[in-house]
Amino acid sequence: MFSRRDVLATAAAGAAMSTTAAAAASFGNPDNPPQGAINAKNPASVTDPGPQNPAIRDQLPSAFSPPATDVGGMPQIWASFNTAPRRIQNGGWARQVTQADFPISTTISGVNMRLSPGGVRELHWHQAAEWAYMTYGNCRITVLDPKGRPYVADVKEGDIWYFPSGYPHSLQGLEPDGCEFVICFDDGAANEFNTLLVTDWFAHTPPSVLANNFGEPAETFANIPLHNLWIYQGKVPGDLSSVRKAMTGADRDSPPEPFTFSLASALYVSQTKGGTLQLADSGNFKVSTTIAAVLQTMRPGALRQMHWHPNADEWQYYIKGKARMGVFNTGPNVRTMDFNPGDIGYVPRNYGHYVENIGDTDMQFFAVFRTSHFEEFSLSDFLKHSPPEMVAEHLNINPAVIANWPGFSAGIMPE
Ligand code: MN
Ligand code: MN
Repeated sequence: MFSRRDVLATAAAGAAMSTTAAAAASFGNPDNPPQGAINAKNPASVTDPGPQNPAIRDQLPSAFSPPATDVGGMPQIWASFNTAPRRIQNGGWARQVTQADFPISTTISGVNMRLSPGGVRELHWHQAAEWAYMTYGNCRITVLDPKGRPYVADVKEGDIWYFPSGYPHSLQGLEPDGCEFVICFDDGAANEFNTLLVTDWFAHTPPSVLANNFGEPAETFANIPLHNLWIYQGKVPGDLSSVRKAMTGADRDSPPEPFTFSLASALYVSQTKGGTLQLADSGNFKVSTTIAAVLQTMRPGALRQMHWHPNADEWQYYIKGKARMGVFNTGPNVRTMDFNPGDIGYVPRNYGHYVENIGDTDMQFFAVFRTSHFEEFSLSDFLKHSPPEMVAEHLNINPAVIANWPGFSAGIMPE
């Protein structure tokens, strides 16, 4: 019987390792029957005569050749905007990944949108709250709060915005090349193609009612569009201060708290040799009462510590670089997947997970949680702050090493 255990034991013996080290090195698949290519005695056991699509297969090597420690049948934790159809109109486009496309994502749905310079996502509102991260360019956002206070701001790469449920808003691309961003709704079923649109309501209201509502003759509305606009090509807007003045008029204040925030320039909540974590939740971005977000930047070879979140599922968007994530649940169920720019990851609440930068450049992603306050448990911190003798008994290790383990602040290893 030729197994992974034999291979590693042989390698260990060859390297003159101790019996203990050989035993430690031989773990890698605790299950019976053993899984993983390393345990497949017959080489034909791992080949795939097809049919197959090598371009897709090679993007996801951990799916095709999972680590031998993967086990069970966890639902898919990977999705991507790269495979979502774009709805293209004059002025821009959008594509989305909702719970209908990605069943595990019950708490968050994602939209990726591009607006040309002057391109407008029309005035609208919706049931879900809207959080967004700017990945490119420049955008102007407008929103009104329920006390009638208008807000307008220009955002750039690394900035975020948040609109609570029902707050009416618009988005417009600016010069020189418009913008691209990722929206997260705080409801996995929310749909960007099904929002409450100003043009829809006008077109479906009797002209006499429009006349009475606005105190104008019905002819004023003779040329309204009979179909909604959703996204349209508008004129590049004027400077921010004159637009703000036109929105507030003579008698309106601005809201006390901004609806925009620069996540990419937020203070580091963790900074190590391995990378940085930047946080925006209702603690520093007051209006964001249902979404917490962490921007995670990792150096080549770095590891986002094994951890979990007690208060919310995690929805991830991969901005740059190459990543691999492993997710653990009871069962056991363990799945490992690869992530490239434009991909989406999802980790249910309390499921253990880690993320590796497996590329040779910095890797960056953001994680979004449907909660007012970000919370996390680090496995290493948990064990470091449990009775050392007990931890040593669990793991059959020397208790003396435990005090040296990284604490909570080491979000990304190495420290
Ligand atoms: Mn919206
Ligand atoms: Mn996490």
